[in-house]
Amino acid sequence: MLEFSYTPPSIHLLEQSLDALPQSDAAVALILVAEDRKGFFLGEVQSPELQLQEQLNQGSVIHRVEGGQWQWIGFLPAIPESEAQLYKKLRTVVSQIGPLRAEHVAIHLYGFEPEAGARVAEAALGVLLSQRVVLSSYKSAPKERWPLSRVSLSPALAIDIRRITAEVEGNALARYLSALPSSELTAREYRRFVHRLAQQEGWECHDYDQVQLAERGAGAFLAVARGADDDQGAIVRLRHRVSDKQGRLALVGKGICHDSGGYNLKVAGSMYGMHLDMGGSAVALGTLLAITRAGLPYGVDCWLAIAENHIGPRAYRPGDIVTAINGKTIEVVDTDAEGRMVLADTLTMASENAPDLLIDYATLTGACKRALGSRYSGVFTNREAWLVPLIEVGRRCGERIWPFPLDEDYDETLESEWADLLQCAPGASCDHIDAARFLSHFVPAQTPWLHLDLSGFRHKGGQGLVTSEITGFGVRLTLALLADGRFLSKVRKQGR
Ligand SMILES: [Zn+2]
Repeated sequence: MLEFSYTPPSIHLLEQSLDALPQSDAAVALILVAEDRKGFFLGEVQSPELQLQEQLNQGSVIHRVEGGQWQWIGFLPAIPESEAQLYKKLRTVVSQIGPLRAEHVAIHLYGFEPEAGARVAEAALGVLLSQRVVLSSYKSAPKERWPLSRVSLSPALAIDIRRITAEVEGNALARYLSALPSSELTAREYRRFVHRLAQQEGWECHDYDQVQLAERGAGAFLAVARGADDDQGAIVRLRHRVSDKQGRLALVGKGICHDSGGYNLKVAGSMYGMHLDMGGSAVALGTLLAITRAGLPYGVDCWLAIAENHIGPRAYRPGDIVTAINGKTIEVVDTDAEGRMVLADTLTMASENAPDLLIDYATLTGACKRALGSRYSGVFTNREAWLVPLIEVGRRCGERIWPFPLDEDYDETLESEWADLLQCAPGASCDHIDAARFLSHFVPAQTPWLHLDLSGFRHKGGQGLVTSEITGFGVRLTLALLADGRFLSKVRKQGR
């Protein structure tokens, strides 16, 4: 049985001086010093050992043992110019202390102004908590856990501890699920897991199984799901309704537990790693968990499009024409473009009760990755005024996004001789844009919509708060978008 558990350490805000640090029972202290106060800091500690290290090791992490306490010291820009740089430095510092497996870690900030300090403290705490998450391993010698039970943070800066721990937990869930091999996270097991989690969290949960989807005419989703002989593909709907004071949110995720490519079979190298093709759904689920844990006042419907893309007697084929739930007919071109097929019907269903904001997450196209690499994910929206704010929010939270156009005339590429829409355009270079245009045919224009093509879902060395290659990209971004207020609240004011 799949099991996910995350217990955050207790976190305490303290007013304690640098001198008092070694007297606490923290075995490890992480001291973050504003770069422009480096001279003052080295003067205050009066440690020839640290001064020597600093001279030999310019800009990097230095350390000492003081009164029995391991102290790791990192120098950071006083006002972080580039957030990416800040997160990268924090990941480097924190990865030094992880192997020490301390139960109590103290984080101390030196020389920062309160506002910049709060940003640094929040990010440092997030990196520390994320690093402690252990992804499943199938090695016979299990990895040693980090029994971190307490973190103290000084000085007592104004940070939102509840939100940051909620984000880390949601991201941990997304990474946990994504790291599972397809042999463990089958469609059946995934659905079972989601049901247990829903019960535990008090979410309503309903599976639209293949019989129900056939009754509703979800031909695009079923074209893909029917390729698997166990009939376990389903659109799972979760509903969280503690409060919707700030608006109603619909989250949609692509959950392809394994993508063989279907009859347009992937070649060996590109099929390896395709257990991660459910990453978008894991991010949607992780975001729902984070919103729940943080107690945010949004009503949320979360829609997971869970299926596997197989070959087999009932699998769909290039040239097939299928009818989606909204009545549009689609001419299949390439069975490896299955993500847009399962999302099409799921987006239609998610739009039915007119959410104030609809966000979908998908590891959708190779084209997006070729365009951006994996440091950024692609974003598309039908609200053009959001383009610049989206870039800003992404940079601030460490999960960077870059917008692509969604103009209507791109549809010329998707004209089919026989059906309403061509599934994709073979050989076209901008498949990420074509895919987004394709999806836009399943989202009503009046629904404010963000589509995230998760090219940053996997990045060597990690991104933002996360040091593992699987980044769980999207959970922190979504909470940052909600906290920003320019997206959802604006919609409410327009009185849609
Ligand atoms: Zn595919």
